[in-house]
Amino acid sequence: MRLIPEIADRADTLTEWRRDLHRHPELGFKEVRTAAFVADRLRQAGFSVAEGIGRTGVVGSLSTGNGPAIGLRADMDALPMQEGADRPWKSATPGVFHGCGHDGHTVALLAAAEHLARSRRFCGTVHVIFQPAEEGLGGGRAMVEDGLFDSFPCDAVFGFHTMPLLPFGQASVRAGAAMASFDEFVVTMTGRGGHAAMPHKTVDTAFALAEAAVSLQGVISREVDPHAAAVLSVTQIHVGTTHNVVADQGWFGGTVRALDETARQRTEAAFHRVVGGIAAARGVDVAIDYDRRYPVLVNDADLATRAEEAVCEVVGAENVANDFPPLLAAEDFAFMTQAVPGAYILFGQGRGPESPMVHDPAYDFDDALLPVAASCLVRLVERYLPNEP
Ligand SMILES: [Zn+2]
Ligand SMILES: [Zn+2]
Repeated sequence: MRLIPEIADRADTLTEWRRDLHRHPELGFKEVRTAAFVADRLRQAGFSVAEGIGRTGVVGSLSTGNGPAIGLRADMDALPMQEGADRPWKSATPGVFHGCGHDGHTVALLAAAEHLARSRRFCGTVHVIFQPAEEGLGGGRAMVEDGLFDSFPCDAVFGFHTMPLLPFGQASVRAGAAMASFDEFVVTMTGRGGHAAMPHKTVDTAFALAEAAVSLQGVISREVDPHAAAVLSVTQIHVGTTHNVVADQGWFGGTVRALDETARQRTEAAFHRVVGGIAAARGVDVAIDYDRRYPVLVNDADLATRAEEAVCEVVGAENVANDFPPLLAAEDFAFMTQAVPGAYILFGQGRGPESPMVHDPAYDFDDALLPVAASCLVRLVERYLPNEP
């Protein structure tokens, strides 16, 4: 590992910062303390700072001369879940937990920003983007819609995430689709209730809901190109109140994810046809709420190569995991790469098969990753904005 020595020397301070953020997690669009922490440190480092971009987002900017502009993005929000493990820096807020490592992302990007301000070994402009509300609330979209790239134009934007499924010390950047689109649905059906012994006098909502929930799997297996990746999960079904009454109303909900836009659109169209068709066949009224949430996260091929070269410089070519598969989880960094070409880096933090995945109550960001990620981000800036082109 070839860490940047000045960053490695700061490891204790970075760990302290990360644990402080971990102890004080904040939910999406409520990252007030975190944003103030970020803004303070950026100002101290010499960045010009804009706050309140996309509600609680922060952008720090630093120019060293004429050249392109690069954006580096971290997320700041925590999850609405209870931390499972006991540790001295355990969340002080019940039911709120940095279970996705965004505390570590925030500090890694701060460390890179501080170093860039000291070393100034780049020619151009760096915008460090600290976004709110990545966990399902679309803070990335909020920043873009709030004029992020109009106020802070970027030629390229890079994001990153910790990844327990990759061993510590490894990293991965894929060209093309890296993470999936994410859409949510709720299907509500209304029939006619009655006695369970006399189904002919009812219109059975439970039957129609169950049939629709099962039939939807046929959309993925029969209508989406088998070479494409798409997944539809009905994650909740609610109907009925007791065992001898046919229910008159109920609903199910879930998510659809896909790695390309064609599969996404195909699934959505078929979803309406299948659910509508079954409702008509069974004689229930149906309301479909289908909400397109996050787009596919697509890494620009050229920028993915540049990011990979920068990462190589720190972790070594043998530790770049090119075969790490794309994930069907979603990432609202996709809203940024829709607006500006970009790439997304995964940094391994796995310490064996037992390493808890992000969103696991036992998860914690690995502080040893802070100088690794920060060094990679600095090398990326130095390569993208070379002092001597
Ligand atoms: Zn997450
Ligand atoms: Zn995350």
